[in-house]
Amino acid sequence: MKDHINVWNNCLSIIRKSIDVQPFKTWFEPIKAVQLEDGVLTVQVPNKFFYEWLEENYVDVLKKAIKSELGHKGSLNYQITVENHRKIGVPGQDVSKKVRAEDDGETMMNPFVIPGIKKMKIDSQLNAAYTFDSFVEGECNRFPSSAGQAIARNPGGTAFNPLIVFGDVGLGKTHLAHAVGNEIIRKHEGKQVLYITTEKFTNQVIQAIKSNSVNDFMNFYQMIDVLIVDDIQFLSNRPKTQEIFFNIFNQLHQTGKQIILTSDRAPKDILEVEDRLISRFKWGLVADLKAPDFDTRIKILNKKLESENLDLSHEIKEYICTHIKSNIRELEGVVISIVAQSTLNRKVIDIKLVREVIKQFVSTVEREVSVESIKQLVARHFNLPVEKLHSKTRLREVVVARQLSMYLAKTYTNNSLKSIGDSFGGRDHSTVIHSLKAVQDLMDTDLLFKDNVTALVKKVKTALVNK
Ligand code: ADP
Ligand code: MG
Repeated sequence: MKDHINVWNNCLSIIRKSIDVQPFKTWFEPIKAVQLEDGVLTVQVPNKFFYEWLEENYVDVLKKAIKSELGHKGSLNYQITVENHRKIGVPGQDVSKKVRAEDDGETMMNPFVIPGIKKMKIDSQLNAAYTFDSFVEGECNRFPSSAGQAIARNPGGTAFNPLIVFGDVGLGKTHLAHAVGNEIIRKHEGKQVLYITTEKFTNQVIQAIKSNSVNDFMNFYQMIDVLIVDDIQFLSNRPKTQEIFFNIFNQLHQTGKQIILTSDRAPKDILEVEDRLISRFKWGLVADLKAPDFDTRIKILNKKLESENLDLSHEIKEYICTHIKSNIRELEGVVISIVAQSTLNRKVIDIKLVREVIKQFVSTVEREVSVESIKQLVARHFNLPVEKLHSKTRLREVVVARQLSMYLAKTYTNNSLKSIGDSFGGRDHSTVIHSLKAVQDLMDTDLLFKDNVTALVKKVKTALVNK
């Protein structure tokens, strides 16, 4: 006679072989088998999100394991531990009896709360250097900058809620968002401001789901008066994070709290974001940052030089600003490099030196690597022959290398999903979509994998610069 514990342990051995250690620990170790009856294995998961996450991401491996243990007719049933004494259950399940007998005592620590202060004070996570004072205004940013200042005077009280700042990388979205936050704190004592990147928010969501503390997490966000979320394009393809973000957004908005978001593309162009969220974004103001014109670039350059206690001839400044056009971060990079060259290497700052420095910066963004070169980089990184990436093999390391190549191809080239699929032995676009999602999931859950990706991204970027 098979019992539920045995069957589930066997399933786990199968699953362990097909997914990485970290996701396995995160999503499978907390599952408990509770019963086996008529080929139906019932397992207990900590909460509803956990169940949905499994179904969204691991349904194939689960099916495979169940089939191998219980045959074609076998099936899996989830039971959800009651969350905060509310009944949340799979229909037909009597969840009320399933309140966990012992609490494991794991409550989520709020990462941003400064302890020891009577009235809870949230650490805003703002960068003090990013203020309106250090933000140079020009035609390119006047509109978003004025909207930001109006908000700072009257947070939550203008029509700009949410304010969505969008623009290409390096045009000042993050700087402006912090400037608004800093100005609000300066003007309105006691306002709780929180800056967070979408990436960090996503990690918190994962953590909250894992530790069964989604409610605490949501409650924490209710204390905030001004919420700034940077780079919301990363909400793309993350339905759970979107769902929680949607709820937080609604509650804050309803109570007149200010929301500021940034994105590197217009909200409607963020792929795989639910319509209901996009429609919320339309409630406020979308203001875009444009590339700075020559005069503004000169002004920004002067400001950066001033803060480095450096001055350059007009000729050199002109040279820099004619060559660095579309990215203020690059402009800043040039200044920092020049300072380093002149102080560390004691070189004279002349046009020759500046030309050398600029060479390293000229727009990496506008260039493109080819899918072929990405494949070669990845194959070399994983020590595989390139042809393997086209093959039909299901060997895990090859599958991961292939998925990663597709991910980098999508991120760093303008090729369509279809053409990317074609370059990997004629796979269709849905395989590519699946790969992008798989890589995203792994990055969210597996730190080692994420390191691998970071290393590869570096290589791709170096390839871009040296092209
Ligand atoms: P984004 O978030 O759009 O990628 P950032 O806000 O990180 O861009 O800006 C890149 C760099 O350029 C930052 O160091 C920022 O201080 C600087 N910067 C951007 N816009 C301005 C501006 N208008 N005035 C001064 N510095 C700016
Ligand atoms: Mg930014």
